[in-house]
Amino acid sequence: MKRVLILGGGFGGIATAHRLKQKLGNDVEVILVDRRPYFMVGFRKSWALTGESTLEAGQKPIDSLSKIGVDVRRATIEAIQPQEKSAIVDGERIQADVLVVALGAELNPSAVPGFAEHAYNVYDPNDIPRAEKALSEFKGGRLVIGIFGAPYKCPPAPLEMAMLIHDKFKKSGVEASIEVFTPQPVTLPILSQASCDAVDGRLSEIGIQTYGHHKALSVEAGEVVFEKRRIGFDLLLGVPPHRAPAVVRESGLTGESGWVEINPRTCETSFEGVCAIGDLTHVVLANKKTLPKAGLFAELMGETVAERLADVFVGKEPTAQFSGEGGCYFEVGNGEAMMIKGNFLADPAPTVELTESSKEFYDQKVKFETDRWTKWFG
Ligand SMILES: Cc1cc2nc3c(=O)[nH]c(=O)nc-3n(C[C@H](O)[C@H](O)[C@H](O)COP(=O)(O)OP(=O)(O)OC[C@H]3O[C@@H](n4cnc5c(N)ncnc54)[C@H](O)[C@@H]3O)c2cc1C
Repeated sequence: MKRVLILGGGFGGIATAHRLKQKLGNDVEVILVDRRPYFMVGFRKSWALTGESTLEAGQKPIDSLSKIGVDVRRATIEAIQPQEKSAIVDGERIQADVLVVALGAELNPSAVPGFAEHAYNVYDPNDIPRAEKALSEFKGGRLVIGIFGAPYKCPPAPLEMAMLIHDKFKKSGVEASIEVFTPQPVTLPILSQASCDAVDGRLSEIGIQTYGHHKALSVEAGEVVFEKRRIGFDLLLGVPPHRAPAVVRESGLTGESGWVEINPRTCETSFEGVCAIGDLTHVVLANKKTLPKAGLFAELMGETVAERLADVFVGKEPTAQFSGEGGCYFEVGNGEAMMIKGNFLADPAPTVELTESSKEFYDQKVKFETDRWTKWFG
C-alpha cells in the first residue's frame, strides 16, 4: 500500500488528507503531522481581536480525522529529507512514497528591531488576547496598523481589521485616528488601480488613512521609523514579515524567492515524489505578481494533489490541475463583506475583481468557516 506523509495540518494538509481518504479509503495510508492540535480559519483572529467572537469558538480538533482513517500525529517536524521522501518527526524518521509539504508561512517579528517590544502581533493567535485587551482598554488617540513585510497572508486582512476596529470604536464612542501602512506601492497590489482606489476611498470615507511605499525599518517607543519619516502611535498593531518555515528552508526545498517554487498546476516541486502546497509556495502569475496566500488556495492545491495521487496510485494518468480560481472575503464592518475573486492563473493576466459589499457576502464568509467544519470534521 502507498504511504503519503503530509507535513502540516492546516488548510492544505487537511484538504489533502481528506480528499485522499475520500478517493481511496483503506487503500492508501495517510499520515498527517502537526504540532497544533486544532484547525482554525485565519479570520478568527480579526473577530477575536475586536471581541466579536473568540479563537476557541473556531477551533476544531484535527485528530477527529482519524475517524476517516487518517493517522494523525501531534508532533514537531524537525527535518525534511526531500531526496529520500522522509521526515524526522519528534526524533523518529518517517519514510513515505510521497511527501506533501503544507507547513504554511512562519511569522518573523524579530526581523524588525523593536517590533516584539512595541507592537501587538495580530497574526499570532498567542498575542491576540493581549491585543484584544489593549484595544478594549484604548481610550483614544492614534492607532496604527503596520504591515511590516510582503508577501503576507490574506492581503485584505489588515484593512479588514482597521474597518472592524473603526466599527467597534464608533459603537463605544472612542475617538481615534486609524492609519494603515504597507511596504507595497498600493494597499492591494493584486487589484487594478481603480479597485485599489475604491478600497482606499472607502477607507478614507470613514477616516482611515493608508500609506503605500512605507517600509518600516524599526519600531521605537511610540514611533515607527521609516527611511524618510516617523509615524507616532498610541497603539501599534503589526503584521510581521513572513518567511518559509525554518524546517523547509533547511531542507533545500526553497528557491531564490525564499519560498518553495512549484509547478502551479500540479504542485510538484523539483524533487520527484514531493509536492508543496499553500502559503509556503511561490506562484508567479502571468502579470509577474504572486498568488496571494489564502486558505482557499491551500485547500484547492491540496485537493488537486490528492486527486492526482489517487489516479497515479491506481495506474491512471492524472488529470486534475489547480485552477487558480477563487477568492477571499473582505469584511468591511456593519455586517457586510466584499470579495476579491477571479481566475488568478489566467493568461495573459489574472482576471481579478473586487465586488460591491453586501450582507450576503458576509453570510457567505461565516458559512466558509462552518462548511469546512462540516466537510472535514463531520
Ligand atoms: C487574519 C487572517 C485572516 C485570514 N482570512 C482568510 C480568509 O478569509 N480566506 C482565506 O482563504 N484565507 C484567509 N487567511 C489565510 C489563511 O489562514 C492561510 O492562507 C492558510 O492557513 C494557509 O494554509 P496552509 O495549509 O498553507 O498553512 P496553515 O494553515 O498555516 O497550516 C500550516 C500548519 O503547519 C503546522 N506546522 C508548521 N511548522 C511545523 C512543524 N515544524 N512541525 C509541526 N507542525 C508544523 C502549523 O501548526 C499549521 O497547522 C487569513 C489569515 C489571517 C492571518
